[in-house]
Amino acid sequence: MQCYDCLADDQVTTAVAVCASCGAALCREHVRAEHREIRQLVGVGKATHEPSARRLVCGICYGAESPPSASET
Ligand SMILES: [Zn+2]
Ligand SMILES: [Zn+2]
Repeated sequence: MQCYDCLADDQVTTAVAVCASCGAALCREHVRAEHREIRQLVGVGKATHEPSARRLVCGICYGAESPPSASET
């Protein structure tokens, strides 16, 4: 399988992942690993220790899914 984003750029690169959202094959350069930490900062007295979920998506989906950064420090 070849990276979809590289093919669009006339390059052929072996894909190492598949976008969880659109299903495009992605190489290392184009894959975005999304770590969702389920952090609830509400004082309910329950600490969440679950490991953050990993989700591999392409750059397009990554940009489309991440909310516009309201406060970027
Ligand atoms: Zn690529
Ligand atoms: Zn995608």
